[in-house]
Amino acid sequence: MKDGYYLYDTHTHIGHARHSGRRQTAEQLLREMDRFGVDKSMAIPFPVVDDYRAQHNEIAAAIARYPGRLAGAACINPFIPEADYRDEVRRCREEFGFRALKFQPQYQGVSALWTQSNFIFETALENGMALIAHTGSGIPHALPSVFMFAARRYPDLKIVLAHCGGGGLLLPDAIVAASFCPNIYLDLSTLMPNHVLEVLQHIPASRLMAGSDLLENTDVELLKILLLDLPAEQKRQILSETAQAVFGSE
Ligand SMILES: [Zn+2]
Repeated sequence: MKDGYYLYDTHTHIGHARHSGRRQTAEQLLREMDRFGVDKSMAIPFPVVDDYRAQHNEIAAAIARYPGRLAGAACINPFIPEADYRDEVRRCREEFGFRALKFQPQYQGVSALWTQSNFIFETALENGMALIAHTGSGIPHALPSVFMFAARRYPDLKIVLAHCGGGGLLLPDAIVAASFCPNIYLDLSTLMPNHVLEVLQHIPASRLMAGSDLLENTDVELLKILLLDLPAEQKRQILSETAQAVFGSE
């Protein structure tokens, strides 16, 4: 809790990133959450890893070690055999109770426009998971609007566009996508406070959520929402209620 608000950070990572060399443990994440007052975090594997099963196991072990503090997401290279991809997502759901599937087009090299990516969205839907899609760096595959096609094809799937287009440049594209697709949600990480106000002119707070992405961003990303001059109801939605509606509150 911070300033009377329950805080759900919808974008954090546990594991080892092959592409950036970053290593982040559950203990480091929990220490940062406790320092700032974050109640719960969505823990996502990094997109390029040595062993995706081991990364999922590490997140599952952390969820068990810190009851109520973490939710889990699966993230898998989509170019492994499709059956293996589907089996691993099902394992994450059935054995570990993961609530989301992450798709990272910048490093996973496939466009949501291509039929070859349909199974990613279908796998999330079949497992009752939300799909978190990275947007911003890595365009054109990471362009927010390419996800409008999947959002229309799978109207029961909740799609969270992480980073809202990755800053101001693609923000209009993210706003258009969410405006036309009611099952598209926006994670406000990387935006400036004025951008958040701009989003709110078009998209209700019931479809917006906060995320830090990396440990060193926690203060800036969460204070940016806490300090804005917004009605308490909107802050509650952005800081926890939208995430609980999308990922579950248990
Ligand atoms: Zn991230």
